[in-house]
Amino acid sequence: AAQIWYEDDGDLATLQGKKVAIIGYGSQGHAHALNLRDSGVDVVVGLRPGSKSVEFAKEQGLEVKSVADAAKEADVIMILAPDQYQAQIFKNDIEPNMKEGAALAFAHGFNIHYGYIKPSADHPVFMVAPKGPGHIVRREYAAGRGVPVVVAVEQDPRGDGWAIALAYAKALGGLRAGAIKTTFKEETETDLFGEQDVLMGGVNHLVETGFEVLVEAGYQPEIAYFEVCHELKLLVDLMNEGGLNKARWSCSDTAQYGDFISKVVDDSTKDRMRYQLGRIQDGSFAKEFMDDQAAGAPKFKELQEEYSHVQIEEVGPKLRAMFSWNKGQAADADENQSF
Ligand code: NDP
Ligand code: MG
Ligand code: MG
Repeated sequence: AAQIWYEDDGDLATLQGKKVAIIGYGSQGHAHALNLRDSGVDVVVGLRPGSKSVEFAKEQGLEVKSVADAAKEADVIMILAPDQYQAQIFKNDIEPNMKEGAALAFAHGFNIHYGYIKPSADHPVFMVAPKGPGHIVRREYAAGRGVPVVVAVEQDPRGDGWAIALAYAKALGGLRAGAIKTTFKEETETDLFGEQDVLMGGVNHLVETGFEVLVEAGYQPEIAYFEVCHELKLLVDLMNEGGLNKARWSCSDTAQYGDFISKVVDDSTKDRMRYQLGRIQDGSFAKEFMDDQAAGAPKFKELQEEYSHVQIEEVGPKLRAMFSWNKGQAADADENQSF
C-alpha cells in the first residue's frame, strides 16, 4: 500500500530559523510563497531583474530579491520557474550561490529525472508536488483545506531530507489532504501522463471535438458550449467529492445507460495512451519539448496560437461574462492579473 502522510507526520519546527527561497512567482510560486509565509515560514522570493512578477509579490508583503541573492541566504531553494528554464537558472544563478548543505526542491521531477539538472551530492534534493493548479493550491489553503501532494527525496546526504520535505508539505497545506511517498521517476512519468492523456490532452480535445461535432451538425454554439464545456465542471465536482459513482448517481438513468454503452473511449484509446506513456518513459517527449524550447519554441508558439482561437474559445468568454455573479466582467484568467 502507498505510504501516505497527514498533518501529524510533518513538523513545522523543522523549518524554524531557516530561510526558504521560492524561485518564480507564477502559478505554483505565488501559492508556495504565500502558503509557507502564512504557515510562519521565513520566505524570500527570487526573481530575475525586470520581472513583471515583482510587483505582485511585493503587493502581498513578500520580500523579493534577485535569484542569486535569494539563493545565497536560503537553506531551502524551491525552483518554481517554468520547467524549460530551470536548468539555466540553476546553472547561472543558483548553483554558484548555494550555501553549504542547502536543500534544493522541486514541484515536478522533470529536470532531475531527465538529467537536465545535476546537483552535487552534498545537497539534499526533494520534491513536494501538488496535484493541482497553483491557484487552487492557494485557494484551498486559504479556505482551510489543501491540495494533495506527492513527496520524494532524491538525495539525502544528512538524513533529514524527509523531515524537511514533510515540513514543507505541511506548510503548503498538502498534509491536510495527504502526501503520498513517491520517487522523482514515478512523479515525472505519471504527471506527464496525467496531463497529456487525461486532464488536458484527453479532456481538452474531448471538449473541443464534442463542441465541433454539435456545431457542424447545425446546433447553436451557445448550447454546445453549455453542454460540453460548462457542465463538465458541475459533474467533475461530484466526481471529486464521491468518485465516478457519485457523478453517475446524480445523473438520470438515461444518462447512465448512455454512458455505459458509449464507444467514444475504447481499447484503441488505451493503445494510444500506452503509446504516449512509452514516449514519456523513453524520454522522447521530454527531448521533443526541450529541443523545441531551445530553438525558441517555434512549435509550441504555433500550437498555442492555433488552439487559443478555436471556436469554443470565442463563444465561451461571451457567455461567462453574462453570468450574474461575474457582473459583466470577464471571468477569464488574465496572466497579468495580480494574484
Ligand atoms: P509559471 O509559468 O507559472 O512560472 C512563471 C514564473 O516564473 C513567473 O514568476 C516568472 O517570472 C518566473 N520566471 C520565468 N522565467 C524565469 C527566469 N528565467 N528566472 C527567474 N524566474 C523566471 O510556472 P508554473 O507554476 O506553471 O510551474 C512551476 C513548476 O511547478 C514547474 O516545475 C511545473 O512543472 C510545476 N507544477 C506546476 C503546476 C501548475 O499548477 N502550473 C502543477 C504542479 C507542478 P517573470 O515575470 O520574470 O516571467
Ligand atoms: Mg500534474
Ligand atoms: Mg505537470
